[in-house]
Amino acid sequence: MSQKKGRVFSGARPTGRQHLGNYLGAIRNYVALQEDYECIYCIVDVHALTTLETTRDLRQNTYEMALDWLAAGIDPEKSIIFVQSNVPQVMELHTYLSMVTPLGKLTDLPTFKEKARQQPHNVNYGLVGYPVLMTADIVLYKANLVPVGLDQAPHIEFAREVVRSFNYRYNTQVLIEPEMKVTEVPKVLGIDGQQKMSKSLNNHIELAATPEETLQRVMQMVTDPQRVRRTDPGNPDVCNVFTMHKVFSKPEEIAMVNVECRRAGIGCVDCKRLLARNLNEHLAPFRERRAELAQNPETIWEILRQGAARARVIAEQTMQEVREAIGLP
Ligand code: ADP
Repeated sequence: MSQKKGRVFSGARPTGRQHLGNYLGAIRNYVALQEDYECIYCIVDVHALTTLETTRDLRQNTYEMALDWLAAGIDPEKSIIFVQSNVPQVMELHTYLSMVTPLGKLTDLPTFKEKARQQPHNVNYGLVGYPVLMTADIVLYKANLVPVGLDQAPHIEFAREVVRSFNYRYNTQVLIEPEMKVTEVPKVLGIDGQQKMSKSLNNHIELAATPEETLQRVMQMVTDPQRVRRTDPGNPDVCNVFTMHKVFSKPEEIAMVNVECRRAGIGCVDCKRLLARNLNEHLAPFRERRAELAQNPETIWEILRQGAARARVIAEQTMQEVREAIGLP
């Protein structure tokens, strides 16, 4: 950790192929932070158990996600990438942290209420404790910085409170309060142009989709709802296609769309075609690397195994300090 600015941790549930929301909201920062920080990235399979009805796809989804992360530029030589359940110390820390967490704080969280609404038949103990396990993930590695999308803000704030409670209760400084780090696009909307891009809402565009699939998805994107006919002027400020242009298109193209949309000089169809082309161009190197990596699945699993071995060393060190701070015999 000598010349680095500090430690970074982030995790995500093994949801399989990653989408533009994951990429722009989180993965871009995972990659960028590797230069200056010691980075630890975790596929949080235990978290997934809080919502999954079957674990049938867990292994494949873990693999697909690792492929996406590596193809996007997470470098296992620089960073640790591993699977959460391979470092069981996190479960122990979760238990200790749960003792300093008021239950009401957990049940009041909007994220919990939403999940409870989505799966009323399965409001399990683990689901309530999700943010405590997430806190354990982060603080087990004494991370200073957590790159995540904006939707995670309440959980990071929660983690900071738990750290304060723990340190206060045991009169220690052993746990570190993490800070959140967002990208310049911290909330990516789905193709519906309304809700957060999310696999469960099926409003997403997968990074690993083919160029044709990408074009098809982009063509389904909802634009300015006021613009009904081709001759109507549009408002790029309320159009998700324009938001994406600002990320993936050249400055002169962004300027052109901004002007021409407002005076109906360009129609939504052409505007979307241009976006799909640029998006496909941007993702081409990623897709090539992914295809290469996919030729050796065993290498991916080996990277995850080695990552877990490195993570366990850090985790056990923290746990020794934590047990001592609590006063466990
Ligand atoms: P998890 O629920 O385990 O966090 P997600 O796939 O929802 O898994 O998210 C993984 C990461 O991607 C998180 O950091 C999250 O904030 C970010 N993310 C997901 N969807 C979006 C989105 N639409 N916009 C911005 N960031 C997102």
